[in-house]
Amino acid sequence: ADVALYQAKAAGRGSYRFFEAETNLRMQVRHSLEHDLHRALDEGALELHYQPLVAVPDRQILGFEALLRWRHPERGMIMPQTFIPLAEAAGLIVPIGDWAIRTACAELASLPGRPKLSVNVSPLQLTARFPASVAAALKAAGLEPARLELEITETAMLRETEATLTVLHGLRNLGVGIAMDDFGTGFSSLSALKRFPFTRVKIDQVFVRNLGEVPESASLLRAIVELCKVLRMATTTEGIETEEQFAAVAASGSTEAQGYLFGRPMPIRQATLLLERDDLRPTGRKL
Ligand code: C2E
Ligand code: MG
Ligand code: MG
Ligand code: MG
Repeated sequence: ADVALYQAKAAGRGSYRFFEAETNLRMQVRHSLEHDLHRALDEGALELHYQPLVAVPDRQILGFEALLRWRHPERGMIMPQTFIPLAEAAGLIVPIGDWAIRTACAELASLPGRPKLSVNVSPLQLTARFPASVAAALKAAGLEPARLELEITETAMLRETEATLTVLHGLRNLGVGIAMDDFGTGFSSLSALKRFPFTRVKIDQVFVRNLGEVPESASLLRAIVELCKVLRMATTTEGIETEEQFAAVAASGSTEAQGYLFGRPMPIRQATLLLERDDLRPTGRKL
C-alpha cells in the first residue's frame, strides 16, 4: 500500500516533487513504526535469535550472540538495524535493552553445556543504574556473570567520560565481559581501546569480506589480532561465510569466530537442538 501511494504521488511530477513525496512517506513510515514500537514490548512482538560463536579452529560451540527481532503484525519481521535507531531516538532503548538482557539470560541459562552469552548494548543504556539491572538479570536467571558478555559498538556515542567509565568498571566488577563490537568500522584506534576496560574485540565483517579481494587484508587481520593479544584482549572474527575465509581467520590467530558458515541467528529451540548435537564439525568428524 505504501508503494502504491508512493507511485501515485510520484506519477507525472518533477524530480523535486518526487523527492518530496519520498521524504514525506519515509517520515510517515518512521512515525508509524515508532508508534508501534511503544507497544511491541508489551505485546510480546520482540524476540531474540541466537547465533553460534565457535572456537577456532575446531568449531566447537562456545556460546551464542543474542540478536533482536521484531515480529510486526503487518510488516513482518523487522531487523534491528531498522528499529534500534528508532528505539534510541524514542527513548525506548533502555526498556527494550533491559528486556533483551533479562530474556537472553533466562533463555540461555537452561541450555546444556553452560554456553556463554553475548548481548548487544547501546551506549545510551550505560546509565548509573545499568550494572544493578544486569546483576538482577543474572541473579534471576541463575547465570554465572562470567558467562555473560556485553557488546558495545564503537560509535560517536561511546564517549570516554567519567560516568561511562564508572558504569563499564561496574560491569567488570560483576565479572561480566565487555566487547567492542564491529571494530574497524568507526574511528577509534587500537590505542583508544586501552582506555576502556574491554575484554574482547569483535573484528568487523568487512575485514573478512576483504580477504581474497584486498591483497594486504590477511596481514591486516593478523596484525589486529596480534595487537589485541598485546593489549590482553580476546578476539572474535565476524562474518565468516566460506571455508577459505575460515582458513585465513585460523591463520590470523583469532580464537573465536562467528558467521553464516557455522550458523545463522536462530530461535532458542533450534539453538538448543544444535547444542545437543554439536554438529558444526565438517562431515561429523570428531576432532
Ligand atoms: P552485530 O552485533 O555486529 O551482529 C552481527 C550481525 O551480523 C547480525 O545482524 C548477524 O545476523 C550478521 N551476521 C552474522 N554472521 C554473518 C555472516 O556470515 N554474513 C553476513 N552478511 N552477516 C552476518 P543483525 O541480527 O541484523 O543485527 C544487526 C545489528 O543490530 C547488530 O550487529 C547489533 O549492532 C544490532 N543489534 C542486534 N540486537 C541488538 C540488541 O539487542 N540491542 C542493541 N542495542 N543492538 C542490537
Ligand atoms: Mg554484536
Ligand atoms: Mg558486530
Ligand atoms: Mg554490526
